[in-house]
Amino acid sequence: MAHDADTPQPGALPEFCLRCSAPIRPGRGEHYEVLVVAVADPHPPVLTEEDLQQDLDQQWRELLSQVEHLSAQEAQNQVYRRVQFPLCQRCFRQWIEDPTGHLPS
Ligand SMILES: [Zn+2]
Repeated sequence: MAHDADTPQPGALPEFCLRCSAPIRPGRGEHYEVLVVAVADPHPPVLTEEDLQQDLDQQWRELLSQVEHLSAQEAQNQVYRRVQFPLCQRCFRQWIEDPTGHLPS
């Protein structure tokens, strides 16, 4: 499993390639540490005329009720994730060319 890069724990990274399980020997220059940062849509919301005619206070209360059961960490995870994981050189070369796994083969 990918390591949550926001709570660093020295030595907690797996010592094997997360994709093929090949052993990773730190310091040998044989692998990559991949850092992925995902941010929820950072653009300002697009408001339509219909949106503006609705009760914004009511919508705000509904939004708050949806997130109030979440912990602070869960709420943060919905808008920002940063993970780190090791890949061997072979897996890295394949992954970096098609990180979403959707290019035709
Ligand atoms: Zn690998």
